[in-house]
Amino acid sequence: MTASPSTNSIADRITIITRDLPPQVRLIGVSKRQPASAVRAAYQANLRDFGESMVQEAIAKQAELTDLDDITWHLIGHLQSNKARKALEHFDWIHSIDSLKIATRLDKIAGEIGRSPYCCLQVKMVPDPAKFGFSLEELWAALPELNQLRHLNIVGVMTIPPLESSMAEVEAIFERAKILANQINQQGFDQLHLSELSMGMSGDYPVAIAAGSTMIRLGTTLFGDRPA
Ligand SMILES: *Cc1c(COP(=O)(O)O)cnc(C)c1O
Repeated sequence: MTASPSTNSIADRITIITRDLPPQVRLIGVSKRQPASAVRAAYQANLRDFGESMVQEAIAKQAELTDLDDITWHLIGHLQSNKARKALEHFDWIHSIDSLKIATRLDKIAGEIGRSPYCCLQVKMVPDPAKFGFSLEELWAALPELNQLRHLNIVGVMTIPPLESSMAEVEAIFERAKILANQINQQGFDQLHLSELSMGMSGDYPVAIAAGSTMIRLGTTLFGDRPA
């Protein structure tokens, strides 16, 4: 199940990890702060999903990879309002919908430019001042308005446990994220069908998969340490 970043090539690590993944789990290679050549190496090993945290960095990298035209790009980092248009132009998925304000802005621009990205609602399952994301209270309050956004395909929940969490806490957080998505699905909102769970990074992805993750976001496990 695990691959050590210190051994083998990017291609070997992708092969090892994908071999053991349940079929419903999509592997996203998090290429932030890695060069375009790392994306290319992973692509040659058949990876087609890549995650980036910063819009400008992703745009620069994509410009070096225009020949790889069947990549699905996932935005996984906090999005500032003034980058919303560029994010819509350059990403197929936005995992980091962390406020009603950014969701509303994305929906408006998506309508103007004819885009309809897949989106996840980033939720803090426990309070975490160090992270962006809806609190549970904010999320429940926002659902009726999120349900009105006709240009966003809101299909999942994304969560990141606080850095200092124990593995037992991480496990509980992932399990509760799945329960939350199910509870929201039972409310009968016609636009909110949350079947995707974007959870699991290099340090915790086996736990996330056991809890029902459908999208794991792996950086260092695939690409090695990020350049500073
Ligand atoms: C950086 C990052 C990852 C990947 O982290 P690793 O620990 O290197 O696997 C996943 N998700 C998000 C949101 C990130 O910012």
